[in-house]
Amino acid sequence: MVDNSLSPHGGVLVERVAPLTSGDLDRVAHLPHIPVRDQVARECVNIAYGFFSPLEGFMGSADLDSVARRMTLDSGYIWSIPVVFDLSRSEIDQLGLKVGESALLSYQDQPLAILDVEEIYSYDKEFMARQVYGTADEAHPGVQRTFAYSDMFVAGKVTLVNPPTINPPFDRYWQTPRQLRRSLAERGWSKVVAHQSRNVPHAGHEWLMKGAWFASEADGVLVSAVIGEKKPGDYIDEAIVLTHDLLREAGFFREGTHLTSTLMWDMRYAGPREAVFHALVRKNLGCTHHMFGRDHAGVGSYYDTYAAHRIFDDLPDLGIKSVLTLEWWYCPVCGSVTYEGLCGHRDQKQDLAGTLIRRIIQGGEEPAPTTLRAEVLEVVRDCAEKYGFGSPFVEDNYLQNRTPVMSMPVLEVGCTCSGTT
Ligand SMILES: [Zn+2]
Repeated sequence: MVDNSLSPHGGVLVERVAPLTSGDLDRVAHLPHIPVRDQVARECVNIAYGFFSPLEGFMGSADLDSVARRMTLDSGYIWSIPVVFDLSRSEIDQLGLKVGESALLSYQDQPLAILDVEEIYSYDKEFMARQVYGTADEAHPGVQRTFAYSDMFVAGKVTLVNPPTINPPFDRYWQTPRQLRRSLAERGWSKVVAHQSRNVPHAGHEWLMKGAWFASEADGVLVSAVIGEKKPGDYIDEAIVLTHDLLREAGFFREGTHLTSTLMWDMRYAGPREAVFHALVRKNLGCTHHMFGRDHAGVGSYYDTYAAHRIFDDLPDLGIKSVLTLEWWYCPVCGSVTYEGLCGHRDQKQDLAGTLIRRIIQGGEEPAPTTLRAEVLEVVRDCAEKYGFGSPFVEDNYLQNRTPVMSMPVLEVGCTCSGTT
């Protein structure tokens, strides 16, 4: 076995998981119960398993202010995206939340985590948005998310007390950082290059991964598929994960060179700052390299196409190397998918744009190895039938009726978690 010795961000992999036993139930029953929304629940799980190491909980004002102003935690470690838990002043009063006490966070009417309340504070949301997103334009989805926070933040360490069940098909792909690090070591992978994805892979993605594998001399590519809040028109989560894994199953990546995993994260679209965050999380997963293509984690025209490449120039060594890639396109003169840095026929390039790929998926054009592989298309269509209520793209029916990625095991806590707020 290879020791994947890359240390997590901050040096120690955070693990704060302590499943409730029947003896604990009385202890937590009297705590204030706070039902949390999907985003907060996912972030509790991520904190508790160390995806966000060195964070041990939701940020206090010193960390948040330091992240906003300097892109570091108060301790000095680089951190680019606020991870906060918001509540309204009236909720806080109603719950009787006090610094120094604990609360039980619940999800799907079941206990999820204990929050040790260390600070209750407010913060200027417009300032936060400008610092993190470079804009306070409410059309930006990350800014929207920031302005949608309630007026107070509750900070403190989080302990997961009821580990969620990950539902099929994601159960085969979701691993905690500790588990994933073990998997990588068992494979003998000491150099691992991460590919962040929210897409069904077309030929450009496939070659981007292959190119990054060569460039970093990696043992393997880790696809880290972002599974989180969906909006209509996105690919359904199941299609993203299963098509990536198909690239390995069908041999486009030899067995032992490609592994698909999932990250439960609600995209902030913070462009360069989100690129830094992605690098840190994948470092925690055990990756040594991270690929960044054009317009990484961007949205609209808020960021320069390669802003996510340049941001690393001004940062200290993060302990994970960036593999910066330009565009892969189809060139009819070269007769292949090729790389912007190599192909001399820029004026004849055929972009592997989302619209072209959607046209293929919708049956308006034939699949091809140079655009979207027929094998990938077949999985997309299977997923549409099996998981997407007939569509591989998110529609209302999917949002309302899909099987959730995670479900909470039922615990008898002697009181109902659904009572408040
Ligand atoms: Zn060419």
